[in-house]
Amino acid sequence: MNQAEVRPAVCEIPLRSGKPCGVTAKVRCMTCERALCESHQATTTRLVDEVGPDGRLLPFPRTVHLQMCEACFATSPAELARIESEKRAAQIRQEQEEAKRQSLLQIHGPRIEAEEYFVSGAARQALIAAGIPKGVVYKTETIQKKGLFGSRWVETIVSTQHGWRIGNLLWTYDAGGDVSLQSTFLTIMLDQDISNALSNYTTTERATHLRVFVRVEPYADGYKDIGGGHLADWIAAAKAVKQLCGTGI
Ligand SMILES: [Zn+2]
Ligand SMILES: [Zn+2]
Repeated sequence: MNQAEVRPAVCEIPLRSGKPCGVTAKVRCMTCERALCESHQATTTRLVDEVGPDGRLLPFPRTVHLQMCEACFATSPAELARIESEKRAAQIRQEQEEAKRQSLLQIHGPRIEAEEYFVSGAARQALIAAGIPKGVVYKTETIQKKGLFGSRWVETIVSTQHGWRIGNLLWTYDAGGDVSLQSTFLTIMLDQDISNALSNYTTTERATHLRVFVRVEPYADGYKDIGGGHLADWIAAAKAVKQLCGTGI
């Protein structure tokens, strides 16, 4: 019997050493017609409909093997178009992100600059250098005192701080039940060195967590810290300090 010699095709893709791969071939490249093993087939990612966790058919990105070698696939018109469109999409994304960053900077830049003026200690230095007089800020608590004719509530001073009266500024404060309101309060900037406090945090985080300002009302020979709230208008605060120091408009 004369048997035809059947030799399975082997992968013809050259390895780094220059020798052909030689692994049993699975397909033939449709462009250059070289025999290819599975590891030398070009692959791409396609969206394939599969049953998702909720039982619905959903498109999932899956790697698919192509009937083409990597060299031919890399120069195929479809692949070149895909690479080009991906490049363009990345460029558009980058441009959009930059535009967003710029617009955020335009909105938040002046505020961050104002926050920086306070948390860096520059505002305090300016007030000290200009010799602006400070006021006394009391923190009080109301305690029950027993007297001859029964008990009564008495407000007592529990701590004393000093600071500069900046003026009436806008504050955000919690009105209870997750409702926050805004209105103006007489505002004192406390005299304290915070320039090195929370130094690992961003300017805005430092401005939020360091107690730079307090809401007050007139009390005794000074003011009473009414507590709570967050200064809302840092830009107005910076302007007011600069005005006080004679360095603003
Ligand atoms: Zn090929
Ligand atoms: Zn191979």
